[in-house]
Formats: sequence, C-alpha cells, structure tokens
Amino acid sequence: MTIDQRVFSGVQPTGNLHLGNYLGAITRFVALQDDYDCMYCIVDLHAITVWQDPDALRQNTREVTAAFIAAGIDTESQIVFNQSQVPGHAELAWIFNCVARMGWLNRMTQFKEKAGKNRENASVGLYAYPNLMAADILVYRATHVPVGQDQKQHLELSRDIAQKFNSDFAASCAATGFEGGFFPLPEPLITGPATRVMSLRNGDQKMSKSDPSDLSRINLTDDADTIARKFRKAKTDPEPLPGEEAGLSERPEAGNLVGIYAALTGATTADVLAEFGGAQFSQFKKVLTEAAVETIAPIGDEMRRLMAEPAEIDRILSRGAARANEIAEPNMTLIKNIVGFIG
Ligand code: ATP
Ligand code: MG
Repeated sequence: MTIDQRVFSGVQPTGNLHLGNYLGAITRFVALQDDYDCMYCIVDLHAITVWQDPDALRQNTREVTAAFIAAGIDTESQIVFNQSQVPGHAELAWIFNCVARMGWLNRMTQFKEKAGKNRENASVGLYAYPNLMAADILVYRATHVPVGQDQKQHLELSRDIAQKFNSDFAASCAATGFEGGFFPLPEPLITGPATRVMSLRNGDQKMSKSDPSDLSRINLTDDADTIARKFRKAKTDPEPLPGEEAGLSERPEAGNLVGIYAALTGATTADVLAEFGGAQFSQFKKVLTEAAVETIAPIGDEMRRLMAEPAEIDRILSRGAARANEIAEPNMTLIKNIVGFIG
C-alpha cells in the first residue's frame, strides 16, 4: 500500500514566539501549503511538560494560532488545530512509550539541556516528549516534517520508532493489509536560510521561547522600539563586518546577525557581506532593525487584531481538530488492531 504525502509540524504554546520560530519553522509551513496537504498543530500537550499557568496556556494557544494565520497559513485549505483536542496523539504516545527504548531517549540532547542540573526534578513528560512527538507525526502517517535544526535528533528518533513498530509488528501489519509496515519513516525538512537562529545574547545558544532573558530574542509581538533596542544591545565583537564568509568563522554573534539579515531580505550571506563588509555593527544594526521591523510589525499587528476575537480563533481550532480527528481515528483503529487490542 502506498502512503500519501502529508506534512505535519507543531509549535508549542509556551509564549514568546520569536524570529527563530518564524524564520526556521512558520515561513516554511507557509511555503509548503501550495504543494502538500499540511497539518499545523499547536502542541499544548508538549507545553505542559514544563508547568504552565492554565490561563496563560489558553492565551498562548490562541497566540500561536494567530501567528500562523498572520504569517499566511490558510486554515481553510490546511488543517490547523491544538493537539489536546485529538485523543489519538496521547493514545499513540503511550504505545510508543512501549516501543522506544530508554537508551534512545537517554541520548536526547534537548532533555539534557531543558532538565539541566536538576534532572531528578524534571517531569516524566519532559523525558518522554520525543515519543509524543513521534505520535504527533505518525498518527497521521505524515511523511514530511518541516522543523528547525534543533529538532533533527527528535525526527531521527521518530524514524527509529516507526521502524521498530513496523518490525515488531510486521506480521500483524501485513495481516491488516500493510505489507512492509504501517508507518512511513518521516523525513525532516530542515530548509531555508535560517534553520538555527541564535540568541542575541549568546551566539552559541539557539534563540528560544524559554530563554529567561527577553533580550535574547525578537518576539513576533515586539514593537519597532523594542526591536531596535534588542538589536542595539545584541552581543557582538569589536571588529567591523568581514567582506567574505570565511571571516565569520569563530564569530558566532556576527554570523547570526548577518544570517538573520540575509533571511529577512532574501539575500545570501555572501551578498550581505559584499554590501556591508567593513561596516561597523552600529551601522549594520540599523539596517537590520529596519528589515526586522518591516517583516515583523505587520505580523504583530495582525496577531493583535486576531487575538481580539478569541471565540473566532477557538472556532478555527475546533474545526481543525474535527478534521484532524477524521484522519487520526481510523488510523488509531488500525493501530490498535495491529497491536492486538480488542474493540
Ligand atoms: P522552547 O524553548 O519552549 O522549546 P522553541 O523556541 O524551541 O521553544 P518550539 O515550539 O519548541 O520553540 O519549536 C517550534 C519550531 O520552531 C520547531 O520547528 C523548532 O525547530 C523551530 N525553532 C525553534 N527555535 C528555533 C531557532 N532558534 N531557529 C530556527 N528554528 C527554531
Ligand atoms: Mg523547542
């Protein structure tokens, strides 16, 4: 049986949506909707792996939805929904908890980074997060997953889980009509000019929603003055910009700002350096701010407009969830049958 191509990806409703999410993920989501059937999910079950205030979680779920729409995702032709409204995600995650091996999860660098020194006190959910992510993708038998560079390892784990399920249950898959396995091995799509935008305070760390410093990131809801201030304060080194790419090695902060500018303006790094080689950061940061404001300000404005009508956002999410469930539910029936559950 052939598997239709389907795109799935998710963003956590943990607040502070930033330029990295936009350039690394959301713009990619928009680009794919012309060629694929896409499902874009606000992954609230992932968000609670770290405690979330319930009212803030609701607000943040609506905010990610608003960002998707403001960035150009079409909620009519594509399926946009929040994860917790489709029970198949959590159900399949449990099955995958029993397929994935402890040794595999122990290698996940995101858990190590997020749990930090206080590992004993991290939630079990934070540890099992990659199994839920595999379930998110595979409950729809999705084949393509646009993500930033930081999610590459989790995607590889999803492939391992799919493969192990297919081989553990090979005979049962075949008996159910899926010779060769039920799940596709999902492909990561890590593309575009900015797959790993770095923190403005530390060029060795990625820009993150959960970074305690707001100065580390440009939020999609930041106004022009805030964007200008954050770039002004962004860490750099004392040298002027180099004229060629080789001059950026060993200069992660400079490389990051040049990369952001290139991504925002659709230029290559080489083009940017050809134009600004020899310039001081004070000058470059001004044009960078202008480019960022030009892209982000209209998105922030549109997000605020959409957020003023939360009931409409909630309607979009529940309609999307109903459509998602129409795909997940029959798949779950097949999966339960493959595993040997009666009913
Ligand atoms: P958190 O710190 O809470 O994990 P996050 O910023 O990593 O938040 P996620 O919701 O986990 O955001 O990720 C949403 C998408 O954005 C994923 O596809 C992820 O790979 C991508 N992404 C996150 N940070 C960056 C970044 N700095 N550069 C490019 N893409 C990114
Ligand atoms: Mg993340």
